[in-house]
Amino acid sequence: MRDRYSALALLRGGLTGNRGWKPAWRSPEPKPAYDAVIVGGGGHGLATAYYLASRHGMRKIAVLEKGWIGGGNTGRNTTIVRSDYYYPESAALFDHSVTLYEGLSRELNFNIMFSQRGMMTTAHSRGELDFQRRLVNGMRLNGVDLETVPLAEIRRDYPYLNFAPDARYPILGGMRQKRAGTVRHDAVVWGYARAADRLGVDIIQNCEVTGILRDPMTGAVSGVDTSRGRIATTRLGLAVAGHSSVLAEMAGFRLPLRSYALQAFVTEPLKPVLDTIVSSSLLGIYVSQSDKGGLVFGGNADPYASYAQRGNIPTAEEVIAGLVEFIPSFSRIRLLRQWAGIVDYAQDSSPVLGRSPVPGVFLNCGWGGGGFKAIPAGGETFAHTIATGDPHPLTVPFSLDRFRELALVDEAAAAGIAH
Ligand SMILES: Cc1cc2nc3c(=O)[nH]c(=O)nc-3n(C[C@H](O)[C@H](O)[C@H](O)COP(=O)(O)OP(=O)(O)OC[C@H]3O[C@@H](n4cnc5c(N)ncnc54)[C@H](O)[C@@H]3O)c2cc1C
Repeated sequence: MRDRYSALALLRGGLTGNRGWKPAWRSPEPKPAYDAVIVGGGGHGLATAYYLASRHGMRKIAVLEKGWIGGGNTGRNTTIVRSDYYYPESAALFDHSVTLYEGLSRELNFNIMFSQRGMMTTAHSRGELDFQRRLVNGMRLNGVDLETVPLAEIRRDYPYLNFAPDARYPILGGMRQKRAGTVRHDAVVWGYARAADRLGVDIIQNCEVTGILRDPMTGAVSGVDTSRGRIATTRLGLAVAGHSSVLAEMAGFRLPLRSYALQAFVTEPLKPVLDTIVSSSLLGIYVSQSDKGGLVFGGNADPYASYAQRGNIPTAEEVIAGLVEFIPSFSRIRLLRQWAGIVDYAQDSSPVLGRSPVPGVFLNCGWGGGGFKAIPAGGETFAHTIATGDPHPLTVPFSLDRFRELALVDEAAAAGIAH
């Protein structure tokens, strides 16, 4: 069967018993050396490898993944894609990512199922309303498509929200981004993996990096030790999310990041009941409905640092209570699954992208609970940095130096970013 997916290929497959489909990517043995090695087969690592090959013409590239691709946060996230960030630096990066997502199915020849169903965030007090107005004005000045939503419109368009006269947190208004939406998480992983593989990238699963080697004379990176042997390289990109500090320690430096468990929940499947994403910062809840019908929801990260991919019960209770307060009719739906992923936060809740203190080692981390939406832009800009050695113009503000220079991009304080 030809490699390119199309309606014709589907028809041909259907008529020939679907026996001719090739695996979407190879399972190569690791080679002794590569021009660039990316650690982490999540969305960011695979996107980086794809852009290194497609935009920069590099061919000898490996992605090393300790488990299976997409088994980390990219396969565990609640798939919300939006760009309502406050600071111009963040708006530029995240809005570029949404734009790349809009063309990604075509670019990768893989349906990533981007559903731009919009996201509405409610305000529950006068103070929050004023705060939202300030955010919306700031974001619009940055070119992001935010709008305030008056109460009457919320009552009309989101009638399932809690408008009870005795509601504990009455809804007074809201803000909305219409271009926001959800993307099928696995499709992003598989789409980038397949496209990168076609350009010659070796995607090596079940290959854990256990050590980072440095040239004793220059201190620059010279390779990695892995569970499948030693691999030489002079360009090493780390895209390992919650495990970034672990990899940094192997290279001999520390990162200003903390890793926390962030939980997600899915209910039993329902007929379509929710055609958008709704969220409330005060209630610590956001929810959407997947194509399979389950309500996918989440909230804030667990309050202490941990590598346990379970999540704690009190946080689960808080998130579920938030959902029931927000949309009372959901109280009778049964929960199907709950899980957590390990996300890494910097103190300003902004990512770290660019060079590290070790020559040849580059960083793509600190996405916290919000890096899925940034995968295309994160991969594209990270590939630029690895290929040229210089930061991409969009990522200059997100260098590691910002912590030394106290030039923080404090989205935690500005937009209260959680997902
Ligand atoms: C519950 C939850 C909900 C979320 N919701 C959203 C959302 O709605 N929207 C949004 O934008 N973001 C969301 N996020 C955040 C988002 O999922 C992450 O920021 C993003 O997926 C990070 O992608 P990544 O490729 O950097 O990391 P990952 O997908 O975690 O990939 C890193 C990979 O590195 C591998 N690795 C680690 N150590 C090693 C090693 N030593 N050797 C080899 N491989 C290694 C891991 O196995 C993993 O597969 C959510 C996260 C969670 C956990």
